[in-house]
Amino acid sequence: MALRVLILGGTAEASALAGGAVAAGHDVLTSLAGRTSRPALPAGRVRIGGFGGPEGLAAFLDAERIDALVDATHPFAATISANAERACRLRPTPRLMLLRPAWTRQDGDRWLDAGDMAEAARLLPAGARVFLAVGRQELDAFAGRPDTWFLLRVVDPPEAPPPLARHELVLGRGPFRLEDELALLARHRIGWIVAKNAGGEGSGAKLAAARRLGLPVVMVRRPGPPPGPRVPSAEGALDWLAALPPPHA
Ligand code: NAP
Repeated sequence: MALRVLILGGTAEASALAGGAVAAGHDVLTSLAGRTSRPALPAGRVRIGGFGGPEGLAAFLDAERIDALVDATHPFAATISANAERACRLRPTPRLMLLRPAWTRQDGDRWLDAGDMAEAARLLPAGARVFLAVGRQELDAFAGRPDTWFLLRVVDPPEAPPPLARHELVLGRGPFRLEDELALLARHRIGWIVAKNAGGEGSGAKLAAARRLGLPVVMVRRPGPPPGPRVPSAEGALDWLAALPPPHA
């Protein structure tokens, strides 16, 4: 049965789901936040930009007569996930989270666990050269470490200079390969990595490189997801869609 499905996207899993859901005959609309200038566009229809909080999203669900919402946003995109949970209660709509599994420590990993970015910043030793792989929205937490040199990798050049006293910027869009990560770490004489535990393969190569080189990694834990059903993959989300009751006429 064809459903009108809203996918909250911005991840590889969201794009895989959009492709599968279109192939299954659903009417698929993917929503992107608009953070990158040239996003890879998934199958189906696409809209870009915020909704205006949970109330705005609830109104959107109503206006678009959405039958089901799949929140396939990044594991650290906590605000939109909380908004989706609230919106689907305001305008009762079946909601699923597609949340890829977190990375787990492997033999040879030297991980230090951090509960948030502020703790990650405190864990870095004085004078370290750090690959700060946390995205451009999270840099403020490291502004108080002028003793530390940071390598930043961003998809688009930032509009404002990063709030870091000593840093270098490189541009890059995943997925990244192990050889390239090893070369990047060597070229910049990196001694430490800070990463968000995003999970997935596209950004996991830096961890394999750190393991190979014996580098310590400060791994920031994910925020807790909102309550409700969750699956780890696009296949699980397609099964969930297939099992939903048909929409009212
Ligand atoms: P966030 O902090 O949870 O959300 C902030 C606001 O951005 C939301 O309140 C919402 O605005 C808007 N928004 C977020 N995702 C949206 C979407 N898919 N469609 C429409 N509006 C959206 O989110 P974020 O951490 O900035 O992430 C933004 C997007 O980038 C997400 O789609 C996420 O999947 C992707 N992404 C995030 C990360 C990360 O590390 N956070 C990494 C890779 C990709 P309104 O309240 O106005 O609706």
